Amino acid sequence: GVRPEIGNRKSEIMITRFAPSLTGYLHPGHVYHMIYVWGVARAHNAKVLSRIEDHDRARNRPEYEPAVLADMDWLGFVPDIGLAATDALQPSPYRQSDCEERYGKALQQLADQGLVYGCECSRKEIQGLQKDQGSEPCYPGTCSDRNLPLEGNTVRFRVAGAQVEFSDLNLGDQRQSPAIQCGDYALRDRHGQWTYQFCCVCDDIAHDVSLVVRGKDILSSTGRQILLFRALRHTPPEYFHHALLCDENGHKLSKRQRSHSITQLRESGVSPEEIIGRAAFDGGLIAEFRPTAASAIIENTAALL
Ligand code: GLU
Repeated sequence: GVRPEIGNRKSEIMITRFAPSLTGYLHPGHVYHMIYVWGVARAHNAKVLSRIEDHDRARNRPEYEPAVLADMDWLGFVPDIGLAATDALQPSPYRQSDCEERYGKALQQLADQGLVYGCECSRKEIQGLQKDQGSEPCYPGTCSDRNLPLEGNTVRFRVAGAQVEFSDLNLGDQRQSPAIQCGDYALRDRHGQWTYQFCCVCDDIAHDVSLVVRGKDILSSTGRQILLFRALRHTPPEYFHHALLCDENGHKLSKRQRSHSITQLRESGVSPEEIIGRAAFDGGLIAEFRPTAASAIIENTAALL
């Protein structure tokens, strides 16, 4: 196993997390992801923490929370720390919409170091700088020396020019250049809404997360998050990025496509073992489809790593 760099972490046992948002019900892509989260945790003798990532007030609906937590429990993916089925809708430090103070303090820490600035460029102006359709726009630093107030403007984080290197536990050595990929990126929008990148890092610090297991679709977030960990004076976690569950056309399965939600499958009488076995087989974790309990697939996956 890996020997974590303990740094300023509180726990000697590694902690990883499952962090669904509330944009819909859980779907088979989440099941595949949970197999990895709990499986990698088992392989590293880590604890699993669950938190709700509902920082985006426009896209998240609290009414999904009881179903998301109940479906995790029903499937057999039980967290050691954080939100469980019985905590649904109760105030919690493991739900982003309840952690405003945490984000405000972290932002102040960055502001004190001169690492953030206010930006009044519109989304349209920035999109206009996009090199080609579909690529991520790279913010050129238009407002970086204008000394605009943070309130009422987008708050951007200075990424500086450095390359970020890290060794992914699954993909090996990685090198990213946030300054070229995205430039100084947003931590908060002009309406006061915090971004995923910022909340995620603040939460991982607050929750003492030392092992991040997530899909390859957000691999490009990791370099920029590592810069934030450093700016907030915290040792970044270890990372394990896994492949995604795809449909027959090679597209990532998501709730927007026709895949059934776990809630729907459950209501139509499908067993947790069938759902887990299907996700594990479709994602290549078992050679033949067979109904499989969460506990069995967690052991199985840990043994593969
Ligand atoms: N809330 C994110 C999602 O639902 C999790 C991203 C992460 O693990 O950092 O995909």
